[in-house]
Amino acid sequence: IKENGRDGVGIYAPYMTEKTLDYIQMSSQLRYGIHNEEFTVYYQPQIDLKTNEVIGTEALIRWLHPKKGFIPPNDFIPFAETTGYITEIEKWVFKTVVEQKVKWQKEGYDNFKVSVNLSSKMLTHPQLLAYIKKILDEYNISGDYIEMEVTETAIIDNLEKATDVLKQLKELNITIALDDFGTGYSSLTYLQKLPIDILKIDRDFIKNIQDINDEAHILKLVIDLAHSLGLKVVAEGVETEAQLDYLRKNHCDIVQGYYFSKPLPEADIKTFLENRKTC
Ligand code: C2E
Ligand code: CA
Ligand code: CA
Ligand code: CA
Repeated sequence: IKENGRDGVGIYAPYMTEKTLDYIQMSSQLRYGIHNEEFTVYYQPQIDLKTNEVIGTEALIRWLHPKKGFIPPNDFIPFAETTGYITEIEKWVFKTVVEQKVKWQKEGYDNFKVSVNLSSKMLTHPQLLAYIKKILDEYNISGDYIEMEVTETAIIDNLEKATDVLKQLKELNITIALDDFGTGYSSLTYLQKLPIDILKIDRDFIKNIQDINDEAHILKLVIDLAHSLGLKVVAEGVETEAQLDYLRKNHCDIVQGYYFSKPLPEADIKTFLENRKTC
């Protein structure tokens, strides 16, 4: 509806739907948020089922919007990907994570990896490798304790370029995990071709395991297949003891999920690690 109200005519042009307005608003808020450092990183522990130790933490971004409060990544990452802001955000996440890793090492928490999520845009960004090398250099840390999670879709969208980038990341000793396995193409033929070290099975898959149903059978096959290709398996979204038991019984290597811990801010991760030590 066109009104000659106080906003004047022409602001609400017919093609400017509510979505477009949201888009503009979101876009400026995201730009401002990046500039204003409104983001923070939470870390979710990953447990090695053989040793029962924390062997990694996944870095997960949160947006602390000054008015709207806490905005979960699923509400802005897809938008950031289409608008291109994602590269600024992920550069910030990577730097923050490396800085944190160095801090943890100085404090004696030195035996676990930190893994960061890489979007499709970032994976094929021409400056990605130079940026990563620069940060690793700046903080004088090797890639050994860094892991990167990429989705199948991100790789397959640009298979040749992505494969090349992943190989170069591996040359920096960075570990590569294939994220959200079980949700995309999940083409088994790709698994042996991709330069990856870890297969992360999506929560959707883990969620449905009850005793012995089809999902459970498939899960067992996927774990065995991954092992035969020399990959380690991480199960994400583990919430119950039954899921854990099944995963353990079927030789899953690493688990992550609310059963152990939700993603935590930096300060709480330390408490979590201390409490596990004294157990
Ligand atoms: P993801 O990479 O699959 O991360 C796992 C998500 O599952 C996280 O949601 C985590 O909090 C949640 N989760 C972990 N364990 C459980 C569980 O036991 N039960 C349930 N219900 N959920 C569990 P979160 O933090 O909201 O992140 C959502 C997605 O946002 C991530 O999915 C990832 O795709 C994306 N994301 C987060 N940070 C970044 C980032 O820095 N860069 C990019 N590109 N994407 C990111
Ligand atoms: Ca992930
Ligand atoms: Ca995932
Ligand atoms: Ca997921």
